[in-house]
Amino acid sequence: MPELPEVETTRRGIAPHSESKTVAELIIRDPRLRWPVPDNLPALLVGQTLQEADRRAKYLLLHFDHGTVIVHLGMSGSLRVITDTSPPQKHDHIDLVFTDGLRLRFNDPRRFGCWLWAEEPAAHPLLASLGPEPLGEEFNGRYLFRKSRDRKTPIKSFLMDNRVVVGVGNIYANEALFKTGIHPGRPAGRISAARYHQLAEAIREVLSAAILMGGTTLRDFVNSEGKPGYFAQSLLVYGRGGEPCVECHQPLREIRMNQRTTVYCTRCQR
Ligand SMILES: [Zn+2]
Repeated sequence: MPELPEVETTRRGIAPHSESKTVAELIIRDPRLRWPVPDNLPALLVGQTLQEADRRAKYLLLHFDHGTVIVHLGMSGSLRVITDTSPPQKHDHIDLVFTDGLRLRFNDPRRFGCWLWAEEPAAHPLLASLGPEPLGEEFNGRYLFRKSRDRKTPIKSFLMDNRVVVGVGNIYANEALFKTGIHPGRPAGRISAARYHQLAEAIREVLSAAILMGGTTLRDFVNSEGKPGYFAQSLLVYGRGGEPCVECHQPLREIRMNQRTTVYCTRCQR
């Protein structure tokens, strides 16, 4: 599933090829995504100029003067830049064609993604209750400390709650907790301000590194397969259950927490 780093990598890949471009055509081959693509979307977009390709949580926001297309890649979607006239393949559901011939092509085999229109994207039900961006200025240790008082929720579930902070997926929560020596099951309300400061920094580091690697994999974004790398080689705990801890060499423990794989070191994480 595309996580925040993959979505940000996609944004960085498409922005230089789509910003300030005027829409010539919107081709919808199959509108049956998670929610139907609005019938009037082509009429809304043709002749309009895409001002900015932005991102909020795992949503791509294609801003126009009169509103915004909210795109989600779902479980299996990708958005890539097509420079030639290569024919659409199976699952290429949408092409956003610009007047210079370049196009953004949306592929989504499982059709859990979306293309929706919003005049006020920040007020849209999908976006209105989202917490701050983990790489934004609003997110820091003080914020996490304040937000977590009286919370008995395990810290890992707390971090993965989009109302607390967006985009901290399972892999990144596991990694950040290991880096700061915090046990994933520790109640969020029982972590000090100092440790939250370290945790916020670790989350930024892990996500930034993943974005950097996604960017490296997708250096040739144009006409690429749109399959970002998963940053797998540098993971310290995720996917390494039973293997030795890089710090103390004791085998890492793997459990399920909220139906998600959780890997941690019983000696290093308290
Ligand atoms: Zn250890």
